[in-house]
Amino acid sequence: MTRIAVLGSTNMDLVAYVARAPQHGETVTGREFRTVPGGKGANQAIAAARSGAEVTMIGAVGNDDFGTRLRATLDHSGVDTDLLRTVEGPSGTAHIVVDDEGGNAIVVVPGANGTVTALHYDDEAAITGADALLLQLELPMDGVFAGADAARRHGVRTILTPAPVQPLPPELLEATGLLVPNEHEAAALTGIADPHEAVTALLRRVPEVVITLGAAGSMYASRFAEPVTVPAPQVRAVDTTAAGDTFVGALAVALGEGRPMEKAMAWASAAAALSVQRPGASSSMPYRSEIDAEAAAS
Ligand code: AMP
Repeated sequence: MTRIAVLGSTNMDLVAYVARAPQHGETVTGREFRTVPGGKGANQAIAAARSGAEVTMIGAVGNDDFGTRLRATLDHSGVDTDLLRTVEGPSGTAHIVVDDEGGNAIVVVPGANGTVTALHYDDEAAITGADALLLQLELPMDGVFAGADAARRHGVRTILTPAPVQPLPPELLEATGLLVPNEHEAAALTGIADPHEAVTALLRRVPEVVITLGAAGSMYASRFAEPVTVPAPQVRAVDTTAAGDTFVGALAVALGEGRPMEKAMAWASAAAALSVQRPGASSSMPYRSEIDAEAAAS
């Protein structure tokens, strides 16, 4: 079985639905409230587990009720949470206001995620034994770098999702094998709007790049091969939350199984296409048998 390690965030999303977001100093009455387990790290871990890998989640939750629920959500999805520490203080939270236009405003409070600044001994062992390490940017940069560095030293493929987008330190880029931005992140990292041109700039910094292009699919380029675009299945999207995380989790599993990049991208596209047809974040992520069926049909 493919082994995936994820070093990343767990957050409880606190979502308020309102007709329109409040202005500064204003109070408005909301229509509905939901708590949704999330965090890019946890989402990618669940996507990879449902795609059929053995997944270890490395990170931290707080010693509050949210922490208990976040851990239970991962456990329930079959993710190994032995290296998800419970630390003193609150879990990470994302405070999200969604208005009737579908627009949102978000405050993220890192909480326990902010304590992950270095690896424990066991973390390094989990990374060493993995086929790939998945990283995002919702942990402190020191923690992200520690993971990437351990993976590089042991020859483990690193797959970095540069979200939330921010300048990437050169030492992190040097330790990154595959960078997977969406087109907005690719533009923010390079200052180049056209993903076909942005990819050339990104390849000066990392050896391999996959840019996800929403309904248009995804594009792969490496320093050693011409860019290729893999189309996404044509589906009616109802909620694209966590489509990118679903794509990355499935891609990591397919690559870990030794599939060539284009085939792995097609399989990941099938997974993401299933997720956009269902509401929710991790709850929308498909299981391996569903991905296989979708991939065979498209
Ligand atoms: P994005 O983060 O929007 O680039 O989306 C990530 C991946 O999710 C894409 O590369 C597609 O595989 C998939 N995806 C997103 N939106 C759609 C859509 N409307 N239809 C089909 N697949 C989609």
